[in-house]
Amino acid sequence: MRPVPERLVPEQSGDPHDTDTLRAEVREFIAEQRAAGKIKPTVDSWLSGWDEDFSKAMAARGWLGMTVPSEYGGHGLSFAERFAVTEELLAAGAPVSAHWIADRQIVPSLLKYGTEHQRQTYLPRIARGECYFGIGMSEPDSGSDLASVRTKATKNADGWTVEGTKVWTSGAHRADAFICLARTEPVDAKNRHAGLSQFIVDLRSPGVEIRPIISMGGGHHFNEVHLNEVHVGDDMVFGEIGNGWAQVTSELGFERSGPERFLSTFPLLAEAAGQAGQGGVPRDAYL
Ligand SMILES: Cc1cc2nc3c(=O)[nH]c(=O)nc-3n(C[C@H](O)[C@H](O)[C@H](O)COP(=O)(O)OP(=O)(O)OC[C@H]3O[C@@H](n4cnc5c(N)ncnc54)[C@H](O)[C@@H]3O)c2cc1C
Repeated sequence: MRPVPERLVPEQSGDPHDTDTLRAEVREFIAEQRAAGKIKPTVDSWLSGWDEDFSKAMAARGWLGMTVPSEYGGHGLSFAERFAVTEELLAAGAPVSAHWIADRQIVPSLLKYGTEHQRQTYLPRIARGECYFGIGMSEPDSGSDLASVRTKATKNADGWTVEGTKVWTSGAHRADAFICLARTEPVDAKNRHAGLSQFIVDLRSPGVEIRPIISMGGGHHFNEVHLNEVHVGDDMVFGEIGNGWAQVTSELGFERSGPERFLSTFPLLAEAAGQAGQGGVPRDAYL
């Protein structure tokens, strides 16, 4: 077998057993919530399990805003500790979607690029489970090729006017805000990633129209978000004008590095294994 190049595998840091006590506390919390009928295990619970009471119960335990410094209302803990909590909740199929996007990618993005005003406005509320975010990236003709977004933001006297359509916006019909990727300069064919910027858009603003997209299974967590001349104040420009590509790929780094991609279906596997242990799974069990 060819040796794995050293740099592809990050070095182990810390002892994996450092989070054992925390995991045990989360499992106890999950067992309590299950006993109280607050958890009905489901697949994709980070997308479809919207339960603000559950998010607030987690906040009360200090499990939202774990990596947020205490001056912004958080708990100053490590990413490894947050990872342990998220793994336990996903494996249990707990209803975590209300706070998921805010806690996963908006928190670190605000800490990296947000102004002091933006951090003070959002981080304490996210850590209390009182503020929820969506993701404002994809567009009807712009998915994998994100640099082709056509949503446009134009400078006006006291801020920006945002015009365009976002799609597949999970939870937008319930979220408070999203960070919207928009063009602030015409496309430069030689440098398509230039001229992009990000804006924090309040999803209750005048001009925001949210239309549901119902999935084949009948569920509703996707939406189309139409931005019809939406005004965004200068105080809600996110990061730097023109630096949108670097910022959005950083946000995607936080979005795509979590355990949800492989733990989404774990509750189904656990249930099937449990039933198999009792003599098999009925053919129609999940129809
Ligand atoms: C569960 C879920 C939740 C989501 N939530 C959100 C959200 O909240 N907010 C948001 O902004 N977006 C969201 N998305 C959108 C998601 O990020 C997009 O699906 C993604 O950007 C891909 O775009 P697309 O679906 O238009 O696919 P396309 O870009 O049309 O791609 C279709 C296929 O073609 C392939 N392909 C594309 N370009 C090339 C190429 N140059 N060469 C070879 N192959 C190529 C792709 O790999 C893919 O297989 C969500 C998606 C899913 C599945």
